[in-house]
Parts: sequence; structure tokens; C-alpha cells
Amino acid sequence: MEQNIGKTIRNFLAPKGIRKFFAFAVIFILLGVSNLLVYEMGGTKLAYVHGFYIPIIIAGINFSIPGGLITALLASLLSGPIMPFDVSLEIAQPSQSWLLRSLFFFLVGGLSGAAAKIIKAYLKDLEDRLVTDPVTQLLNTRGLMEVWQQNFLTALSKRSSIVILRIHDLSSIEAILTPQEVTQLFKDIAHLLKLIVHDSGVVAVLETGTFALLLHDEKKVQHTIEKCKSKLGNVFTVNEIPIFVNIFYGIAKAYKREESLIALLHRGRIAAEKAIRNNAEISFFESQDETQLLRNAKIIHDLNTAISSNELALVYQPQIKLNTGKVTRLEALIRWPHPELGMISPGEFIPLVEGTLLINPFTKWVLEKSLSQLSFWLEKGFDLCLSINFSIKNFYDPTVFNLIYDILQKYNIPPERLEIEITETAFTTNLDQVAAVLSTLRKMGVRIAIDDFGTGQASLHYLLELPIDIIKIDQVFTKNMLKNSGAEAIIRNAISLGHELKLEVVTEGVQTEAECKKLIKLKCDYGQGFYFAEPKPAEFITSWLQTY
Ligand code: C2E
Ligand code: MG
Ligand code: MG
Repeated sequence: MEQNIGKTIRNFLAPKGIRKFFAFAVIFILLGVSNLLVYEMGGTKLAYVHGFYIPIIIAGINFSIPGGLITALLASLLSGPIMPFDVSLEIAQPSQSWLLRSLFFFLVGGLSGAAAKIIKAYLKDLEDRLVTDPVTQLLNTRGLMEVWQQNFLTALSKRSSIVILRIHDLSSIEAILTPQEVTQLFKDIAHLLKLIVHDSGVVAVLETGTFALLLHDEKKVQHTIEKCKSKLGNVFTVNEIPIFVNIFYGIAKAYKREESLIALLHRGRIAAEKAIRNNAEISFFESQDETQLLRNAKIIHDLNTAISSNELALVYQPQIKLNTGKVTRLEALIRWPHPELGMISPGEFIPLVEGTLLINPFTKWVLEKSLSQLSFWLEKGFDLCLSINFSIKNFYDPTVFNLIYDILQKYNIPPERLEIEITETAFTTNLDQVAAVLSTLRKMGVRIAIDDFGTGQASLHYLLELPIDIIKIDQVFTKNMLKNSGAEAIIRNAISLGHELKLEVVTEGVQTEAECKKLIKLKCDYGQGFYFAEPKPAEFITSWLQTY
């Protein structure tokens, strides 16, 4: 809207092309009409002569000071000595009268031209500010969109490409430099990028630390990246301090003529994200990324319906007390048989759900469903505990604690029958937050298990800080236990570490009798895995428990 208003004002103040011709014609016609009107109405004795101000002002506005002055000159000549003071009485004008009028014409022509020039400069400044990044003076996203519409949409036959250049871990740079030095760093990078891209395209800033190089021709991509790598490198000197700057490049090509810049930028960003994720300096957007994106979007969109229409299902996997062979615990695991996509593994959709607030209704569904099932088993007389997997993101919603409490109350389940599993990866960041969450759960009486122990790259410090009851050694160690003495050593030590810290130890992924025997020898408390039982639906588990 504001852009349209700006465009209309700009077109009016500085006509171009056909509009320029039109403005010329209007001015000439108005001059002619004024001249005719003055003569026909009887000469300059009447006020019609002031009509000449209209074309003078229009010319001043449209063609600046020269336009205003030239039109003033023409108006002065037309209304000058040749034009009588009184046509019918044939009285000529006194010369001081037309001279003074001409002076006013010139004044008005010059002033309107000057005023229009100031307004045009002001509008240009406003527009420039709207489309440029104040720090680097490069185009911002809006500016890039304007350039795209003006220059790229028409030349897409060559296939434009976008290179997204992202500075990774900006916060660690910001932590050691002053704000002025950070600004200087961005200015230096912007300057180099402009030199590198030169006339192959345009450079823009999308947000702090993310630059976009919009290139006219896909053939220039490789060359531009090579130049970026050699000229930018990874080390910048700011105030004589050499700084390591980790730069990743994501590249995407425009598809077809009507390609939108937003879509192109989106693909470029995805490619840059992929580069960061894979720790590869450069990454191209590929067609399978597109397929994956569409699949992810479908999964997320369909999940809402899946929750409400009971499309999701839970399976339960027993955990066996190794010294007695008894089943005392079950882990609830989600299954999603999608009507179109087939069975979607939790490993695929849980990370997607965690990125949205759908994780809350999803977990609510799991809690409700699995605890009602547990209450059924308890009523049947089975002495069981239930483990549920939680994402740390669940606890961003403070109502989750009440929810757990309410559902436990609803089904009259003692809280110590519920175990909440949180993967060790959650402890790599913000230990204070995790500690607060776990102590709230502990106060409720719920037990806490660390899932995938040994793979989360977390410092073992958390074992001292957090209220934990159980560790679940990841299946990657179990799998290798018998063929790799290192894996066996890790399991043996994890078990004795757990026991010394008064924790119960579960080993995941037990698949063979030999592994089971080994774990018994190592005094592991519980085993879980296909050797004992695969995860199965509740009805199956009920009959399995009866015959076990
Ligand atoms: P997890 O909690 O570590 O669950 C154990 C995974 O190992 C399950 O995979 C299970 O089917 C599989 N498994 C069990 N025994 C064996 C074995 O002997 N061999 C092998 N190869 N695999 C075995 P699943 O069901 O695909 O779940 C994967 C992960 O998804 C789970 O790992 C858990 O982190 C997550 N997950 C599952 N259900 C939920 C849920 O309801 N909520 C949340 N937030 N996460 C869930
Ligand atoms: Mg688990
Ligand atoms: Mg696990």
C-alpha cells in the first residue's frame, strides 16, 4: 500500500517515458488555453492572465527548476507586449506591468521547481532507507524484492541463483567483540561481497549475519563461491584482533519465469541450514530436500487430525528385571500408521513435532491413553510401572505438570508408578532449566529416567546436579558389547557408576541370549529389547503378561 502511494507520488513528481510526453502535452495545452482565454476575454486587464501560473507550476513540479523557468519564459512571451491590455479598445499593456508579471512568473516557476526538487530528494532518501540495511548499506529483503521485480523477473531465462551466506555461531563472535567492532566486521564483509559479486548480481542482508547474493546467471555461482572462499576466507582482523568467522553457503537455483523470490530465498536458507547441519561448507538445495520439505509439512499438518481422530496408536515394550526375570515395567512408544504415507517412525515425526506447540496436545494424548491403559493393568492385578518418553520442549508449557498430576488422579495411579524418560541430549544446554523441571516432577513423586545414556554428549556433571532415578544405557553399546571390548567396558562402568550413585540401570536393545547373559553377569538391573519382547499393542501385551 505505502509502496503504491510512494510510486504514485514519484510518477507525478518525476514522470518517465510516455508520462513525460503526456506532461509536456498538458503543459503546452494549458499554455495555449490560457493564452486564448486571456485574448478572448478581452486582454490582460482581467484576472484570466493568472491562468498561466498553472502550467508554470506543473512544469516546475515535473521538470524541476529548468522546466519551471522555461515555461515561465513562454508564459511571459505569450502574455507579454503582443497581448493587448484591452482587446476591444486596442490598448497595449504598460511595459512595467508585463515586466513585473514576467518576474512573478519566473519566481513561481523557479520556486515550484526548487520545492519539487527538495520533496523528490526527501522521498528518495525515505525510499532508500526503506530498502537498505542501516549497518552495511546493502539492500535489505525489501530492496532485494524490488531489484528482483525490476531486473530479474524479466531475465530469468538464464536461471538466476541465490547464494545464502550464513555466519555460524554469531553469538560467540558477539561475546568477544564490542558492538562497534561487530558492526565493523559486517561492514568489511559487505564491502568484500560487493567487490566479489560486482556486476554478476546484487548483494543483500537478510538478517544479522545472513547475506544473500542474487546472481543473474547460474553459471556464475561456482566462480562467485570460489571468490568468496579465497577473498573472504574464515579469518577477519578487527581492531588488529584476528577473528575466526565460520561461514556456510547455501545455494538454490530459480526454477522458472514466475518463480517468486520468497520461494527462492526459502530454498537458499534450507540449503544453508543443511550446510550447517552437515558441517559442510557448501550445500546445494536438491530436489529430495523439496520432497522432504513437503513430507515434513504434510506430517505436521496431518498430526492435528491424527490426534483428534485416534489415528495414533501406542505400543508397549516390557523391561525385564534381569535377576528375577520378572516384568515390572513397560515403556509406551508411539506409532503412527499414516493413511497415505504408511507407518511413520517416531524418530522421524517427534523431532518435527517438537518444533511446534503440537507437542503439547500430542503428549497429552500419550499421557491420557497410556495411563488409562496402566490403570486397566493395575486393576487386573499386574504389578507394573509405566515409562513415557518426554521431550524437554514439553516442559516449556508450565501446565504440563498439572496435566500429569490430574491424569494420575483421574486414574487413581500412584505417581511412583509413572516414569518419565528424557533423552540425555536435553542436558547439553540449560541445565538449570532441566533441573527445575526434574525437581518439580520429583516433588510430585514421579520417577525420572535418562534415556539413551552415553550418546547425548552431555557432561556427566548432571548426574550430581539432577534428581534422577534410572539410567537407560543406549542400545548402540548393547549391540557392540560382545564384539567390542570398549562397548563392554562402557556398559560395565555405566552399571557400576549407576549403582554407586544409587540409580537403577536399564540396558536397551537386548537382542540375544548371549547379551542377556552378559548383562546378568555385569549385574545390570533391567533389560529391554527384542530378545525379551518387541513393542506391541496393549491387548497383545495383556495376554503376553498373562502367559509370561
Ligand atoms: P527410545 O525411547 O530410546 O525407545 C527405544 C527404541 O528402540 C524404540 O524405537 C524401540 O522400538 C527400539 N527398540 C527396542 N528394543 C530394540 C531392540 O532390541 N533392537 C532395536 N534395534 N531396537 C529396539 P521407536 O519406537 O522407533 O522409538 C524411537 C524413539 O522415538 C524413542 O527412543 C523415543 O526417543 C522416541 N519416542 C517414541 N515414542 C515417543 C513418545 O510417545 N513421545 C516422545 N516424546 N518420544 C517418543
Ligand atoms: Mg525411551
Ligand atoms: Mg533409548
